[in-house]
Amino acid sequence: MSYDDNNIFAKILRGEIPCHRVYEDADTLAFMDVMPQSNGHLLVIPKIPSRNVLDADPAVLSKLIPIVQKLAKAAQDAFEADGITITQFNEAAAGQTVFHLHFHIIPRYEAQPLKP
Ligand code: 5GP
Repeated sequence: MSYDDNNIFAKILRGEIPCHRVYEDADTLAFMDVMPQSNGHLLVIPKIPSRNVLDADPAVLSKLIPIVQKLAKAAQDAFEADGITITQFNEAAAGQTVFHLHFHIIPRYEAQPLKP
């Protein structure tokens, strides 16, 4: 599968669609999910186009993962979470809906247990 430049996150990176930015550096952007699964749900994306982990350059992943870790820790503190889910989907069959590589950082709360 190839990368389609018209995906929503590519438009966010080009400034064509607004987002609530929480972190940015030369290679990475993090912003709030527009339909959060919990209070503080973030998305972390590389600026270089990749459809998902399967076609990503390992060098991109090696820059991205420490930032995901840093933002997960920050989200845990900032949103007073009891735990953090970090998820990432590859292709529609696996639940991916936006085809630009992204990691979800989802704060979790004991008062709102996950359904089995
Ligand atoms: P996926 O299912 O591909 O892993 O998740 C895509 C995520 O992108 C979903 O959680 C969805 O709520 C989020 N999303 C879709 N469109 C937009 C948008 O325009 N802005 C933001 N901030 N998030 C979006």
